Amino acid sequence: MEQGILYVCPTPIGNLDDITLRVLDTLRSVDIIAAEDTRHTLKLLNHFDIKKQMTSYHEHNIREKGPLIVDMLQNGKSVALVSDAGMPGISDPGEDIVKLCVEAGIQVMGLPGPSAALLALVVSGLSTDKFAFEGFLPSKSTDRIKALEGLKTEERTIIFYESPHRLLDSLKDMSSVLGNRRASLSRELTKKFEETIRGTLEELLSVAHERQLKGEMVIVVQGAEKGEQEEFDIAAMLLQLLENGYSKKDAIRFVCEKTGAPKNQVYSESLRLKK
Ligand code: SAM
Repeated sequence: MEQGILYVCPTPIGNLDDITLRVLDTLRSVDIIAAEDTRHTLKLLNHFDIKKQMTSYHEHNIREKGPLIVDMLQNGKSVALVSDAGMPGISDPGEDIVKLCVEAGIQVMGLPGPSAALLALVVSGLSTDKFAFEGFLPSKSTDRIKALEGLKTEERTIIFYESPHRLLDSLKDMSSVLGNRRASLSRELTKKFEETIRGTLEELLSVAHERQLKGEMVIVVQGAEKGEQEEFDIAAMLLQLLENGYSKKDAIRFVCEKTGAPKNQVYSESLRLKK
């Protein structure tokens, strides 16, 4: 029997006109729609006058539902995967079922369409050359700070999803860990009250203090300046060498040789060390 195809179908992140003709055709032609929230997707289907059988596929039933969906596909049924909004698999259920299908040799066809991350990036005014998508930062402050520490030397533009009730805490942590970099905050993209606020992290923080910013939001942050990585490594290398019993002079010479960094830079780095 011929296997079915899994179609990964992005849906609008606000404005229903953003659904593509191909996604509509696919939703109409598949045997079944696997939806993150069937009640939510029903509204979308009703809007476009689509009547189709649905099954739920969400973060709490991934383990049981994944194999069932694969079974349907192996039995020749075609399945459209949709999440509540945007691109399934991007901070949404999707990754697992795609992996299962790939492992089972089932054809996976992705359709292009809306995703909040890319939209926020292109309107941010920051470099789009290279970027890193971080999704949601951890909700616990210590974990969030740790995650941000790991991004201190990331040179690519960084994209975060954020929820309004954590906005202030996240902006505070971002500016204290990453420094006062340029950033943008896009909220309610494609919706009536859509806006993008651009400035430094501290400026965004003061706007967030003044106004209670609501809705769905994406924060885009400028990457680290080139060379920050080197400076950070130099400090760590010096410290390690001094701890290992090297004299300051030898440690500096060793680091200069290893990194190619100029002696005065390594020397001034050594002056900043406590040891
Ligand atoms: N799969 C979706 C995508 O491709 O964009 C993302 C789903 S994730 C569960 C939801 C998060 O996406 C929100 O908390 C927000 O950070 C971001 N988001 C979704 N819609 C948005 C919108 N219209 N404006 C700004 N951010 C949005």
